[in-house]
Amino acid sequence: MTEHLLKILVVGDGNVGKSSFVHRYVNGHFNQTYKMTVGVEFSVKMLQWSDKEKVRLQLWDIAGQERFISMTRIYYKGAMGCVVMFDVTSSSSFRSCRHWKQDLDNKAMLPNGESIPCILLANKCDLPQRVVSADSIDRFSEANGFIAWMEISVKDNKNIGEAMRRLVENILSV
Ligand code: GDP
Repeated sequence: MTEHLLKILVVGDGNVGKSSFVHRYVNGHFNQTYKMTVGVEFSVKMLQWSDKEKVRLQLWDIAGQERFISMTRIYYKGAMGCVVMFDVTSSSSFRSCRHWKQDLDNKAMLPNGESIPCILLANKCDLPQRVVSADSIDRFSEANGFIAWMEISVKDNKNIGEAMRRLVENILSV
């Protein structure tokens, strides 16, 4: 049995749903109460990937910020992949994704010097007051080198496991 240890970062503006996402993925439920992440924390999830492979995912969630703040290199060190998240009801959280991606490309590199695979997640697609269109996400994702983008709802448990599988698949394929 091979065990892959993968450090995955979860970045994005404050209030887009990062902690809820990690909590849902790791513990399987949605916690309605608002909790501002304090500092950096990580959660662990084990996946049986194939007959012979297990994946130990370390999910690093970052403190939510009102505005983009560049993260320290310690946070990025050894990261193998990243989730960049925004809230479809907040155009400013979508605009911030450009900065998050640029910061990642500058600081989080694989041993071969390439930038780490990032998936772009459009959260809160359960809400009716959506302001970011699928079209603009599609163009943005393509132009900024994301491996893929997906609409998710942490609240409705939509596409959470699928999004993580997509990212892990990409990481393990290189
Ligand atoms: P973070 O600051 O990015 O870690 O965001 P949180 O995980 O603390 O979530 C911010 C707020 O958005 C909380 O009130 C969550 O309950 C709410 N939230 C998170 N995901 C969803 C979702 O998919 N749909 C809806 N409607 N609310 C969500």
